[in-house]
Amino acid sequence: MPIESGEGPSSTVVMTPLTAACPWKKTEPISASTSFRELMDSDLAAKLQKEEDEKFAHELSRSPKTPIESEISVSTEHDDDDVHQIDPSSLELDEDNDYLLALMLQQEYTKEFNGMMKKYESTVNRNSKVKVSMKNFMLLPASNPTQTSDTIDDEDILEESKEAFSDCEQDQRMPTFNRRGTSGKGASLVTKHNAELCGKRNVARVMNTFPPEFETGNVLNNIKLSNRVYNQLKLHSYAEEKRMNRLHDKVEKATASLAFDPKTRLILYKSLNSCILDELGSIIATGKESIVLYGKGGQTDLHKIPSEVAIKIFKTSLNEFHTRNQYLREDHRFKNRCKGLNPRKIVKLWAEKEMFNLQRLQRAGIPCPTPVLLKKHVLFLSFIGKDSVPAQRLRDAVLTPEELANAYKQCLNLLKQIYHECKLIHADFSEYNLLWLDNIVYVIDVAQSVEPHHPNAYTFLLRDCTNVSTYFSRRTLNDYVLSPEETFNHVTGLGFEKRGQEFLNEIQAYEKNVRLQSEAIKEKDNFSFEYFFNQTKELHADDSSSDEDDDNDDDDEDYTDLTSGDEYAATLSKSLPSKIMKSPLRKTKLSKHTP
Ligand code: ADP
Ligand code: MG
Repeated sequence: MPIESGEGPSSTVVMTPLTAACPWKKTEPISASTSFRELMDSDLAAKLQKEEDEKFAHELSRSPKTPIESEISVSTEHDDDDVHQIDPSSLELDEDNDYLLALMLQQEYTKEFNGMMKKYESTVNRNSKVKVSMKNFMLLPASNPTQTSDTIDDEDILEESKEAFSDCEQDQRMPTFNRRGTSGKGASLVTKHNAELCGKRNVARVMNTFPPEFETGNVLNNIKLSNRVYNQLKLHSYAEEKRMNRLHDKVEKATASLAFDPKTRLILYKSLNSCILDELGSIIATGKESIVLYGKGGQTDLHKIPSEVAIKIFKTSLNEFHTRNQYLREDHRFKNRCKGLNPRKIVKLWAEKEMFNLQRLQRAGIPCPTPVLLKKHVLFLSFIGKDSVPAQRLRDAVLTPEELANAYKQCLNLLKQIYHECKLIHADFSEYNLLWLDNIVYVIDVAQSVEPHHPNAYTFLLRDCTNVSTYFSRRTLNDYVLSPEETFNHVTGLGFEKRGQEFLNEIQAYEKNVRLQSEAIKEKDNFSFEYFFNQTKELHADDSSSDEDDDNDDDDEDYTDLTSGDEYAATLSKSLPSKIMKSPLRKTKLSKHTP
């Protein structure tokens, strides 16, 4: 290759076209030649730089993007599959630029956050058929303005989450152990129990296996967790999970307490189907032991239903079991029937008891709901109210002084009538169980009412009298309201003179006497001719009649119709202890020994 060279400033380097033969390929001749002076000329360099700047400025004015943005888009143009990624190597030159760094950090954060969300999503969904999507909570990549939400693909996010988690796993990378649980040789030999390795492994487990809602903080930065700490954390996380589940359960049960169990729903459904009900209305009230619904009565050939009904559904929960048992166990009408019964059957007896007691009240002409139908633990009553508006409880009614005086007089009469004519003690006679409609006091809620032979009958009666006395003395200014003791004497016709605790003692002594008396009469009855005669009759009757347990029988006939003429005799013979009620002698005795 001939090279001409010369001395001094005029000397030039002349590059002749390359024509040398190449054994593999023909090389292109280099066409341009530049003198060394030109190469070293600073004016020319400045001129070229200026041209370059102008060209760049021109390009910049045509594009709205910032240099960094264009840089990012340039770098991403090449990789369609991974549009969120900024290739850090392509930006190496600008890394000191704060804005770019911020973008990169933001992108890292977004990636990590979306990964976490994705993991949370898969934990929540597990095998569930209904999947929850966290897509709306995920962050959009901030760095690329051209990116739209449409371009975020689930798979991309999944990939990102995998990357994010594999990062943290990489940090805690474990050596592989052989079967003896060791790794490495000689001085570098480690066992799987090595404290440092265990510490790292525990950190990785905390990050990857604990539930997402378990706050761990950032445990990746060279933190090691000892086995003891890890185990305690694990136990705590289990306990937390259980607690959360329990809370959830509670909420579900609480909502279920207002809902009906399937058997109740079936009864209601059938009553609509068989035209006993025309329409099922809203809930009138939820008492402590029942839910009362409003319903529009239908028309059937079998039953005579009023146009408006109150449907009292006794709660079948176990909470009320013990309280109810106390009232049933000692009631001679139910005592034999409630032995060994489960709570569900006790509830049925309870509903029956309310029905019988209401019938007694009705016969004495006491204002109270008329029992219409009984189906298991669902009692259909006539509605006390007007045009689907239920009567107010005495507790809620706002009465004028005259109305109060009127109500008080009625209450005293009601107590007397219930005691003398119905041979009952209400046992929950209060402003909560008395309804006020058209200047009339109606008595409701008589399931717990007992006969005077009940061991606590007179204590209950004193409680009723105290309720009346307290309610009216608080509301009326006049001092014509009797004290509880006076009310008790007024109602029973007994003349106890003591007051306070002594009065109660006297009552309890009297109660005991009444009970002993009634037991003595029963003993006597058990040896009488009539008793054995009736026992034999009863045996024959039992043989021919079917068992009354109706748990599996859901026919319409199963309703106890309480509206027909001799319903009392019919239901009484069906449900009262036949030993007592089928004997005519027993009936007379009962009324004879009542005080
Ligand atoms: P609980 O035994 O649960 O206290 P109640 O028999 O006292 O049940 O009834 C609860 C509420 O339902 C009452 O306070 C009353 O407002 C309403 N209620 C009950 N029976 C009737 C009825 N026949 N007509 C209108 N409302 C009624
Ligand atoms: Mg009540």
